[in-house]
Amino acid sequence: MNSTAPNLPRRRAAIFWIVIYALVIAAPLLLVRLTQQGHGQQGFLKELSNNLALAGFAILVLQFVLAARIPRTESPFGLDYLLRFHRAMGLLAVLMLLAHPVLLAWGIGRWWLLTRFIVPWPVELGRLALLTLVVTVITAIWRQSLRLEYQRWRNWHGRMVVFVLVLAFVHSMVLGIGGRDRGDLSAWPARALWFALAACALGAYAYHRWFHRFYHRKILHEVTNVKQESRDVWTLTFAPVSPRHRRVHVPGQFHYITVLNPDVPREEHPFSISSSPATADGVASTIKIVGDFTAQVPKIKPGDRAYIRGPFGRFSYLTGAPERPLVLIAGGVGITPLMSMLRHLRDTRANRSVLLVFVNRSEEDIIFREELAAMESLDRPQLQVVHVLSRPSAGWQGCRGRLNRQILAELLRGQVLEKDYYVCGPPAMAEATMRLLREMGVPQFSIHSEQFSY
Ligand SMILES: Cc1cc2nc3c(=O)[nH]c(=O)nc-3n(C[C@H](O)[C@H](O)[C@H](O)COP(=O)(O)OP(=O)(O)OC[C@H]3O[C@@H](n4cnc5c(N)ncnc54)[C@H](O)[C@@H]3O)c2cc1C
Repeated sequence: MNSTAPNLPRRRAAIFWIVIYALVIAAPLLLVRLTQQGHGQQGFLKELSNNLALAGFAILVLQFVLAARIPRTESPFGLDYLLRFHRAMGLLAVLMLLAHPVLLAWGIGRWWLLTRFIVPWPVELGRLALLTLVVTVITAIWRQSLRLEYQRWRNWHGRMVVFVLVLAFVHSMVLGIGGRDRGDLSAWPARALWFALAACALGAYAYHRWFHRFYHRKILHEVTNVKQESRDVWTLTFAPVSPRHRRVHVPGQFHYITVLNPDVPREEHPFSISSSPATADGVASTIKIVGDFTAQVPKIKPGDRAYIRGPFGRFSYLTGAPERPLVLIAGGVGITPLMSMLRHLRDTRANRSVLLVFVNRSEEDIIFREELAAMESLDRPQLQVVHVLSRPSAGWQGCRGRLNRQILAELLRGQVLEKDYYVCGPPAMAEATMRLLREMGVPQFSIHSEQFSY
């Protein structure tokens, strides 16, 4: 690995956090079963129902930690992966917690728990928590289909999950302590664990919402350069206001930018870093206009200030085997993390064979065209650039149409194995390309992807 890029954390850290994650989910089950008297006399369905509630609550707590962008837990996996996992586990928690009242009512033969409108208040709290959780998870998974605006959804999501946690905590505490038929949380170690889990979730939330903002990872930068790359794509270059805050990223990572300009919404947005970590010119992001925030990017001027948080992510050729040929596949502005990798390969004169397949609509949409052509003429890396255009002009000599199996097979000359593939672009294009690669026999572990949405 080159000295200009920091070492990416090892696999051991990932295994460590996976074990901790599994232990936190198992801990309430184990502790309750070890400390509760009369365990085993509850009946199978009731016990299963309670186990699902215990594990479901632990998963909810861990959802806060996964989303908190804590550097130690983020770096072994990459934030985008963690957030996708967060979404999948949210769905699992909902299914487990939905099964809890059904199995309980069935197990103890009290179907009125489900059917009656008026029930004891702790049960009512549980119902409200579950209903809110279902809505929260549905709006998270289908946010785009439901056309929910991202920033508004994000603020709402943050508040709702705290509401769910508090309701679920009170519900489980009151009913879990139980009366004469001692409940799952009747023993003090189980209760102590329950408090610790709730505190852990609220601590992660506070870290993410407040402490994180003032922590050293959010650094004040100045915009040093603004460059228009194409009709709707701009590159912003930033330098830290205090040079001692300069951070070295791994080529391919992304960061969050909040621009401090009165004409630009003060929102935090993720953008890949398109510059090489080997350059002293500052850190750059190349941004395509797609919505409310990005439409204001042309208003940003040199001298404007911005907060930058990060870098995040593990999408980098430095995570793969150092000797394998690279195949980089970009769709439109998805070139940005790959450009950072290419610039780093160039700046470090890496002896690597690289094929870049760059998919765009038309010639006007191709960004970095001259720079890529100049890189192709170098002996290190040995770069071949292939442009694929879906709507080229009549005179276009290169590949036409969508990237398909035939084009890829020709470019790879039938040799698909022993290469590392890095795919980045809009979600639909990235998914389709990865499917294509798998169909062509590329093993999953050789395919790396970054999607500009989570
Ligand atoms: C890891 C990552 C790297 C990215 N790198 C680049 C890049 O190098 N260049 C580039 O042009 N774009 C990049 N994007 C996409 C960029 O973040 C969005 O295009 C931008 O946030 C859109 O904001 P908007 O208000 O203009 O558009 P909107 O219409 O509000 O949003 C369009 C879509 O962008 C996503 N989005 C919006 N706001 C946020 C946010 N605050 N956080 C996360 N996602 C959001 C949502 O999926 C939303 O549906 C990246 C996204 C991710 C997740």
